[in-house]
Amino acid sequence: MNDPIASILRFGDPRLKEVCEPVSRQSIETELAAEAEQLLRTVHAFRARYGWGRAIAAPQVGIMKRMIAMVLDGREHVLINPTMTWASEARAEVWDDCMSLPEIAVRVQRHYSVTVRFRRLDGREEAFEKADFSLSELLQHELDHLDGILMTDRMRPTSSIVAHENRELADMAKVRSKDPNGLEMFKAGASRPKVERAML
Ligand SMILES: [Zn+2]
Repeated sequence: MNDPIASILRFGDPRLKEVCEPVSRQSIETELAAEAEQLLRTVHAFRARYGWGRAIAAPQVGIMKRMIAMVLDGREHVLINPTMTWASEARAEVWDDCMSLPEIAVRVQRHYSVTVRFRRLDGREEAFEKADFSLSELLQHELDHLDGILMTDRMRPTSSIVAHENRELADMAKVRSKDPNGLEMFKAGASRPKVERAML
């Protein structure tokens, strides 16, 4: 079988900048199920190789549909036509990463909490209600993919790109140097970040 990781589009591929089509009710169920399976297989393969990565959006493998696959604590989720119906005013910064450019991490600001509604593959409507920051920042990243928005489009103005393995090192350097931007040290998605009010 082909290596699923080889099917991931990398930054610079114009398909990553396109807005995806909603999945229609008439769409062929077997086709959708096969595509969802492909996405989940890709997440598992990526995690096995890199040791991180929880979700992928369909356009990242060239499927231009509003669909996301996630593996959270070993549980698989497929989100069809996900929409953000609520977002907290509070925001926090995090090192964001992406399977489409796994060598780097980018400093972004995200809503601290969001609610996302979606359909499961079997058509059931569900929602992640007021998700915690770890899930919320992930959902925002994946939803952005469906609108052709990449993490680099959300990048903070300065000192915002590092090699993926240097995220903690960069944070420690900032703390030591009392960086005027006041970035707080926390691992991406791990410990609870300090909430900061949006200053946008
Ligand atoms: Zn991504």
